[in-house]
Amino acid sequence: ALEIDNVCKDFGTTRVLEEVSLAIDSGEFLILVGPSGCGKSTLMNAIAGLEPVTSGRILVGGDDITWRTPAERDIAMVFQSYALYPSMTVRGNIAFGLEMRKVPKAEREAAVERVADLLQISHLLDRKPAQLSGGQRQRVAMGRALAREPQIYLFDEPLSNLDAKLRVEMRTEIKKLHQRLGTTIVYVTHDQIEAMTLADSIAVMRDGRILQLGTPDEVYNDPVDKYVAGFMGSPS
Ligand code: ATP
Ligand code: MG
Repeated sequence: ALEIDNVCKDFGTTRVLEEVSLAIDSGEFLILVGPSGCGKSTLMNAIAGLEPVTSGRILVGGDDITWRTPAERDIAMVFQSYALYPSMTVRGNIAFGLEMRKVPKAEREAAVERVADLLQISHLLDRKPAQLSGGQRQRVAMGRALAREPQIYLFDEPLSNLDAKLRVEMRTEIKKLHQRLGTTIVYVTHDQIEAMTLADSIAVMRDGRILQLGTPDEVYNDPVDKYVAGFMGSPS
């Protein structure tokens, strides 16, 4: 299980996360939604260890990981901004995390083939990121995370740059992947359909706080306030 316990995050004098607490079961698919600037990516970065929290704790399986480096956490993240290594090929980018973890070459190559096939980027493996479209880069970023099989995946709007057809295909693949691996997933999206079809539970955020946490049915049909109702497009 992943536990976020009373986490606050300040940038300078601005508080961006305000006492965020969330408990996510092992194998749970949690969708995080909320307006632009509410703190979703900041929370993801804190879980991944890319931004130190100001106060509070993050626990995985009961272990306090708050002060561990990203490499010491069994977590793979797909960034909103892709963050690919520009000098490496697609193949190198996807294999990078495995190489860091000293996975043998044959195993790395097999993993690259597997995710490239899944993400329909096999024909792009020898290109550099600059030679790719936005949607292709996004799939490479996802491939880099999927090549690993960590305890926890963090996806920050991983499908936002894909066309409608690919989006639906990728959504289905992510759902299958989750069912097959039983990995814990925290997934940020602005897409209502994605949220309703993928989530075991949905957390609605606003101004650095969690307003509501519940099943898609609860959040949609029984919103805690007008804001959540409006955001989820609930019937009134
Ligand atoms: P979006 O949906 O647009 O991606 P978000 O919910 O992911 O938004 P965050 O990126 O978490 O939002 O940003 C939350 C707030 O923190 C914003 O007001 C943003 O300007 C601010 N912020 C984010 N990163 C930094 C930083 N490194 N320094 C200062 N302020 C920051
Ligand atoms: Mg964001």
